[in-house]
Amino acid sequence: MPDRPGTDSRVREPGWRPAGKGGVNGSPSDPQRSAPPVAGRTGGFTESVIREMTRVAGEHGAINLAQGFPDFPAPDILKEAAIRAVHADLNQYAVTWGAPRLRRAIAATRERDYGTPVDPDREVTVTCGATEAMASALLAVAEPGDEVIVLEPFYENYGPDAVLCGARPVFVPMGPGPGLDLERIEGAFSDGTRAIILNTPNNPTGRVFTRQELEVLGGLCRRHEAWAITDEIYEHILYEGEHVPMASLEGMDGCTITISGASKTFSVTGWRVGWIVAPPGVTGAIRKVHDFLTVGAPAPLQDAVATALEGLGPEYYRELAGGYRERRGVLHHGLREAGFRCEPPAGAYYILADFSALDGRDDDTFSRWLAAERGVAPVPGSSFFSEPDGGRDRVRFAFCKTVPTLEEAVRRLTGAAG
Ligand code: GLN
Repeated sequence: MPDRPGTDSRVREPGWRPAGKGGVNGSPSDPQRSAPPVAGRTGGFTESVIREMTRVAGEHGAINLAQGFPDFPAPDILKEAAIRAVHADLNQYAVTWGAPRLRRAIAATRERDYGTPVDPDREVTVTCGATEAMASALLAVAEPGDEVIVLEPFYENYGPDAVLCGARPVFVPMGPGPGLDLERIEGAFSDGTRAIILNTPNNPTGRVFTRQELEVLGGLCRRHEAWAITDEIYEHILYEGEHVPMASLEGMDGCTITISGASKTFSVTGWRVGWIVAPPGVTGAIRKVHDFLTVGAPAPLQDAVATALEGLGPEYYRELAGGYRERRGVLHHGLREAGFRCEPPAGAYYILADFSALDGRDDDTFSRWLAAERGVAPVPGSSFFSEPDGGRDRVRFAFCKTVPTLEEAVRRLTGAAG
């Protein structure tokens, strides 16, 4: 039997800021207005700090290197296909699991890229972005009280997603070096573990998990009958190493739920088209959750994404990664010049930078100061850690921006010492 909450040294209660800090997370009832109470489950987490920093950037007219969305155009092939689809009146609900054409394109792309056969009718679900995909997947597999392992630093949605299921996120540090601390992660598995969430290439660290690391993690999932839920949204934004989908590893296709989407690959974060590839049994459960949450992702945009998946070949993907490699160089070099300590990421489009040589204040104060006084908004590091002290000296910068935008940000940051 797993230890119970509070007695389990592996489980650290989330250190998210107390209710009330970010707007909607106020006290469950408001006697002043005698409003009916709101559910307690939202008290376990705050609003997204990433998206809050977008608002802060807007207030100060700062360059938004906080929320990770591109400021450059999406490929014409997608935009033209979307316009055609709207004109052709593909404007009603698609099949709730996803338009058949898009599901076929997703399956074909995964077979082409990774050699994993996928059945579009029984194993693919199209969702409103990877965000809904993660929430639907967890709601489909996690029971109240289950443990969900989340590697730290983490993308901020994973903890709240687990809490919304009544599950308990178990935060485990990835380890200080470039490799994962596999022993520590092994120690976090228990009879109560229902799933581990893996994100490679990783937001915010830029790590790319190796085949060997994934094999060990896969073995742990099989031994403990836990799901590997892998967020592979940055699968095509890679500078070093190879992207290894967990589902492609021997014995893992039956216990892996793979999440990806169009947002990052095709620079259309506002379209909200994501997908899940998973074995048929769990796909049935996921589809029910998805259906009742959202009915479906936007039909004309699904059609346009299918066109892009069918029509864009290796050259597109090479150019995508090549463009990001250049942007990575501009921001990384600029941050080092400005006095930040950071390494170039192996994948994804973020740099988690240590600012302790520049400023002794905490990450939240420093981020807001940087936005207000220097005109560049990052994300405070603590939003990627369960304990605020974990990211106290760090801020995350996104480099999914044009080179001139990044050069201007670097010019502003070069005077960052306060
Ligand atoms: N994944 C992006 C980030 O980490 C965008 C987050 C969001 O707002 N959905 O910044």
